[in-house]
Amino acid sequence: MLFDFQAVFAKMEYKMIKKRMRQGKVAGAKKGMWTNGSPPYPYIYNRATKQIEVDADKLKIYREIVDKYILGMSTLEIAINLNRRCIAPPYVGKRNKYGWSHVTVHRLLINEIHLGYIIYGKSRNHRGTPQLVDKEDWIKVKGEHEPVKTEEEHEQILARIAQNAIIPRKCRVGTLPLSGLLYCSKCGRRMQFKRRETKNGSYWTAMCVYAYPDGTKCDQVGRKLDDAFYKALYQKITKIDEQTLELVDEINEQYQELQALCEMKQKELAQTEQAIENLFELYEDGKIPKQRLSDRIAGHEKTKAELEAEIEKCKTALASQVNLVTVEMVKRRIDEFKNLWLNATDPSDQNSAFRLLIERIVYDRKDDGLRLDVLYK
Ligand SMILES: [Zn+2]
Repeated sequence: MLFDFQAVFAKMEYKMIKKRMRQGKVAGAKKGMWTNGSPPYPYIYNRATKQIEVDADKLKIYREIVDKYILGMSTLEIAINLNRRCIAPPYVGKRNKYGWSHVTVHRLLINEIHLGYIIYGKSRNHRGTPQLVDKEDWIKVKGEHEPVKTEEEHEQILARIAQNAIIPRKCRVGTLPLSGLLYCSKCGRRMQFKRRETKNGSYWTAMCVYAYPDGTKCDQVGRKLDDAFYKALYQKITKIDEQTLELVDEINEQYQELQALCEMKQKELAQTEQAIENLFELYEDGKIPKQRLSDRIAGHEKTKAELEAEIEKCKTALASQVNLVTVEMVKRRIDEFKNLWLNATDPSDQNSAFRLLIERIVYDRKDDGLRLDVLYK
């Protein structure tokens, strides 16, 4: 047998160096030194002191984010507001070309580094594959840097996030017949219900209030939820025409294919994002020169943009797909629905009736009228 000893030794040496570096990082982290590459907003890294420092201008913005969130503003509203005012996002032009997003804001809000901690060892390399480490095994020590939020504020933030996750929307605003079921065909987001007051009384309307991260609003046109609307919906739900029945299987198949495609693209996107992160880390550690970093980032960014566009397309297509399970199932459920609907005495009962049968209703208002697509459970 022949061995390429040179290669084997090179590999061993590389592993050794990596191990020592990791140990150095852990030791540094244990002493409260910053060893993690670029620090989160509003901190900046000082190479001379090997510490992270607070950037005064960024701190103002950061504090505003914390205060507004605690006061009840959503992460999305905060992001849109920052973009409107042209406040530079944490990574200008590279990792965050759309400016602030609700994800950026969310990540900043939950970060424990801002409490004055240094966290190390969130992931490790296991035989070449990166793995996530359980939270209790993270190395978390008090750092030398200045905290920018208090423990109380952090608790309040976590409490609000937990609350938003647990309490469904309908409990917060009162249940309407279509609560949680009506989705916009244009942006794929859930539509909202607003009460309108007029001289002749008040009524409910359905509208899309979604705004993209750059602040542009979804241009879906809202509609009054009057008797005519519910009648049309009832007709749509209870009468499945022959053509629809024939389409059932075909559509089911298409839907699943599209879903698989979407998942695949999302996986690729995550990999690309990881690759970008890795490059930044290599650069921060001085392992690759700046020119090489920007060359390679450019390639990844292009792939990322393409993937994001494809995922957006997939999602829009998925949101507007009609997916019937089996004809018999739907027919049986429709009978149950009719029964429940006719006996419903309040909006909450009506909502239960819809939920029995329907996964979602996709709303699309065009010049020639309203189109409702029903996705059965
Ligand atoms: Zn919309």
